[in-house]
Amino acid sequence: MTDRDKIYVTSPLLPPLEDFEQMLRQIWDSRWITNMGSFHERLERSLAEYLKVPYISLFTNGTLPLLTSLQALEVKGEVITTPFSFVATSHALWWNDLTPVFVDVDPLTGNMDPSKIEAAITEKTTAILPVHIYGQPCDTKAIGEIASRHGLKVIYDGAHAFAVEKDGKSILTEGDMTTLSFHATKVFNTAEGGALVMKDEATKRQVDFLKNFGFEDETHVSMPGINSKMDEIRSALGILNLQHVDEAIAKREAVAKLYREALGEVEGLRLLPIDDSVKTNYSYFPIFVDQASYGISRDELYLKLREEGIVARRYFYPLISSFAPYRDLPSASKENLPVANMLSDSVLCLPIHHELTQAQIESIIKFIKYV
Ligand SMILES: *Cc1c(COP(=O)(O)O)cnc(C)c1O
Repeated sequence: MTDRDKIYVTSPLLPPLEDFEQMLRQIWDSRWITNMGSFHERLERSLAEYLKVPYISLFTNGTLPLLTSLQALEVKGEVITTPFSFVATSHALWWNDLTPVFVDVDPLTGNMDPSKIEAAITEKTTAILPVHIYGQPCDTKAIGEIASRHGLKVIYDGAHAFAVEKDGKSILTEGDMTTLSFHATKVFNTAEGGALVMKDEATKRQVDFLKNFGFEDETHVSMPGINSKMDEIRSALGILNLQHVDEAIAKREAVAKLYREALGEVEGLRLLPIDDSVKTNYSYFPIFVDQASYGISRDELYLKLREEGIVARRYFYPLISSFAPYRDLPSASKENLPVANMLSDSVLCLPIHHELTQAQIESIIKFIKYV
């Protein structure tokens, strides 16, 4: 079997090559390849409109908006966060000299459990950094109430939450700011890329300075900003992918429907709950394997699928709190995070993307049902 024959957990959304060539020609002609050129401005405007958010700033990946949001909000000391996420969530704290304080997650969704937050607050706490895991909205109301009671900032890592809505409203406007990732593995991609969503123009101005070394104009630098600008080439890719993302999400939805119908009743497998008030993006399809009733462990299933050329992923295993930079923190102990440990040890994300064929989906289902 060649790599081309394998079924991967995802496949990047790519526009027709001729369309991209045409845009590249325009960029070549203009001789403006980065530094907030016309494609960058166009993608920012299009995304604000598409995502129904007031202000957005493009970044060169999905990690740097996390770093910059913490800097822009002058977050200090300790930040309450989730261990059940991609490692970048905590790394952004590390790069700002902040201490992550891990709290446990909800057993059904894997999102931060709001009832665990208050016990983790100390006099050093200044912010909460939850993640809308698998694109499911966090309990933003409960988190917002706790934050305002204790005077804390809230930054959502929305790397999975592209275009997700609750009650007809974007969830990207919850909290003080929300970050997005446009990495190749995400629902919408610019190869590498990301963005920060904010609520007011003054914050957008400040963020725009911070992603360009802190330059306010040619001769003034207000803060030690970083370089995280998105270039014209990837902005053009984003403009084109935005024209196809609805179709890609619809195809993902169809895959999710087939999985749900076929796997919903399989003994020993649990799926995510469905929330009718949420318009999701079908970015991931996790199943949670209970070894005792399913018969084999998550890791055995993972390896057997690999032998069949089906590359599922254990998102998110190991927990962030078990990686070397974090495991000695008091909040990283297994006793503090029983639910996160249980989910991380049982989760497997199945292939879901716009290019899966009916035959591929059926073979995955058949294998999981009868293995
Ligand atoms: C992908 C991801 C990121 C980082 O995004 P990059 O664009 O890869 O830097 C951050 N948080 C979560 C939850 C992610 O899944």
